[in-house]
Amino acid sequence: MKYADEFRDKTIARGLARAIGAEAESQSEYRFMEFCGGHTHAISRYGLEDMLPANVRMIHGPGCPVCVLPASRIDMAIRLAERPEVTLCVYGDLMRVPGSQGKSLLTAKAFGADIRMVYSTLDAIRIAEQAPNREVVFFAIGFETTTPPTAVMIRLAEKKWLKSFSVFCNHVLTPSAMHSILESPDIRNIGRVEVDGFLGPAHVSAIIGTEPYEVLAQQFGKPIVIAGFEPLDMMQAILMLVRQVNEGRHEVENQYSRAVTRKGNRRAQEEVSDIFELRDQFEWRGLGLVPHSGLKLKQAYAQFDAEMRFAMHEVRVADNPACECGAILRGVKRPVDCELFGTVCTPEIPTGSCMVSSEGACAAHWTYGRFRDYQLRRA
Ligand code: SF4
Repeated sequence: MKYADEFRDKTIARGLARAIGAEAESQSEYRFMEFCGGHTHAISRYGLEDMLPANVRMIHGPGCPVCVLPASRIDMAIRLAERPEVTLCVYGDLMRVPGSQGKSLLTAKAFGADIRMVYSTLDAIRIAEQAPNREVVFFAIGFETTTPPTAVMIRLAEKKWLKSFSVFCNHVLTPSAMHSILESPDIRNIGRVEVDGFLGPAHVSAIIGTEPYEVLAQQFGKPIVIAGFEPLDMMQAILMLVRQVNEGRHEVENQYSRAVTRKGNRRAQEEVSDIFELRDQFEWRGLGLVPHSGLKLKQAYAQFDAEMRFAMHEVRVADNPACECGAILRGVKRPVDCELFGTVCTPEIPTGSCMVSSEGACAAHWTYGRFRDYQLRRA
């Protein structure tokens, strides 16, 4: 198949749905977590859940970098941006995420902080070149997919001798978070979600390959199928998961072989490992402190590390107690389980991070799923 339309063919999708229905054993339950926010968005957008039998259920995972960033890191960014000498460069979807006091970068900007929305790392470099007398800081965020561009940006800043440029690094790692979902001390507080298998992320896996998931699949006895973002990709991957469960296998399989290999993108991996190293732990919204799940700049690049340059300190803060983002990001609850969903909290005025980014479970359900709920209630 060459074109996107071909991956959305209704006839083939119905055929795959019939195959899933035929192979899913009626006395069994199949609970599959899609880790990636892009998959969550696609499931809602294409109504894939409606095509699955009742005993095959998708559980939304934490795979949206904006959603999993804790309020404490937003607070740190706001405090940084409020310094008179600083210009903070930020991707647009971070602007409206509430910090611990309900304040966001957007409100900080309205009160005079110099915060610029950027579309790429190169935009931030350009701003730094044009304002050599300002401290220009790039708010770096994302999973393994967006880390290589940040690494390249730091190399470029070094080459260009940008002495007042730095990075507030919030890059996080997928396999560590998957491990935490299955086993972490916070399970006692927030509850465990029963997962029978994972739909593995697509873009992340294009960088890291399928190999890093192998130890997870073996250790926890859970099948993992890396899937593309198109509806047929995901239906086929779900069928592959059902087959693994039926056969008692727990392997890493690759449905998205047109973009993902076992070893991934070596060049990108080398760029990242040249510049970044593991943090001992990093806080995730919904998952708590996850060991070895975040990256920081290596000592050799300390001059570009905003946390060192501005002596930034993280203070852990509690989330809004009425917001269920934590439980949703763990897969323990669904957006409709939150009392604020669609009343106090909407994409226009979000209370929690899951409603801000389009990849967040609450935003995806608000955009595509709430009409289905309404129809079901009427039926
Ligand atoms: S609806 Fe809003 S407040 Fe509730 S969990 Fe989702 S983002 Fe948080």
